[in-house]
Amino acid sequence: MPLDASTLKSQLVDSFGRRVSYLRLSVTDRCDLRCTYCMAEKMVFLPKRDVLSLEELSRLSDVFIRHGVRKLRLTGGEPLVRRDVIDLFHDLSRHLRTGALDELTLTTNGTQLARHAEALAQCGVRRVNVSLDTLDPARYRAVTRLGDISNVLDGIDAALAVGLKVKLNAVASRGAFEDEVDDLIRFAHARDMDLTLIEEMPLGETGQNRDDTALSLRDLQHDLAQRWTLKPHHRSTGGPARFMYVAQTGGLLGFIQPMSCNFCALCNRVRVSCTGRLYTCMGDDGSVDLRAPLRHSEDATVEAIRIALQAKPERHQFDAGKMAIPAVARHMSVLGG
Ligand code: SAM
Ligand code: SF4
Repeated sequence: MPLDASTLKSQLVDSFGRRVSYLRLSVTDRCDLRCTYCMAEKMVFLPKRDVLSLEELSRLSDVFIRHGVRKLRLTGGEPLVRRDVIDLFHDLSRHLRTGALDELTLTTNGTQLARHAEALAQCGVRRVNVSLDTLDPARYRAVTRLGDISNVLDGIDAALAVGLKVKLNAVASRGAFEDEVDDLIRFAHARDMDLTLIEEMPLGETGQNRDDTALSLRDLQHDLAQRWTLKPHHRSTGGPARFMYVAQTGGLLGFIQPMSCNFCALCNRVRVSCTGRLYTCMGDDGSVDLRAPLRHSEDATVEAIRIALQAKPERHQFDAGKMAIPAVARHMSVLGG
């Protein structure tokens, strides 16, 4: 539907004419796992006093929603380890009821999902992304350094049982993942879940050399096509995933290829860290503080957002040939993907 002039004026638009309609808001940098591609084994987390309160997270979301954000994803760190996070979902659900927001959702590692699935559904959450890279308990423990896969499997079951649509996200890595991806496809599609494969990005030091693990999804897709009939599917989530229909299962397989395929021209999203810093591009260290303006006034906050958007890069500068050196110092857990 075309927007009227005053609504159009209130929208957040970057210098390349891309309109921001999607906010990914990190509610904590903490996590109960230490995935090898995401974090260092001994992570130092932020002092709690640096993290926005639930009330501030809510108010900041309100500002974005009033200025054109239609989709809000809570992420982390692990969003479900933040105490009282369900209160925040409950509070934000009023935007679904008024129609100001099309979707309220989250990305989670699933370890606490069994406890929270029903409450999330009651808050109007309809879809949830669950990160799961393997079905093998030992490999899951190795990848996450801490995790027990049965918690995630219980979480997925609980989410499906209360009617949530679940999408699995898996970071593709060289080696065991290539042997297991067929099982993941079968597991996801048998439960009517889409599966999206993600290329590892060089974000933050993890204590591992990403040259040893990074896998091009171009190569993996080529390999998968020897065993599966993959047909391009034109579903668009407005995001970076490209979908293929898998004829043998009837399910969808998504590919997110920040390293081997650039999708920045369609970027409609911004990210805010749990300390209130606005990042307009995943691959850029530039950020703007929103906490101080938020504590001052809504006008000051909108002004800070508009200034940041003028500096939103046209595209990220990740280089697949330089995986060993982080492109940015910040870990993925600061912004949550
Ligand atoms: N803890 C939640 C989870 O794991 O779903 C939310 C935050 S996590 C940072 C969001 C997503 O980022 C997960 O799907 C995770 O697999 C992915 N991720 C983490 N580090 C990554 C990296 N270096 N490159 C690509 N994806 C990464
Ligand atoms: Fe935690 Fe998610 Fe990062 Fe894994 S990917 S360490 S679950 S924040």
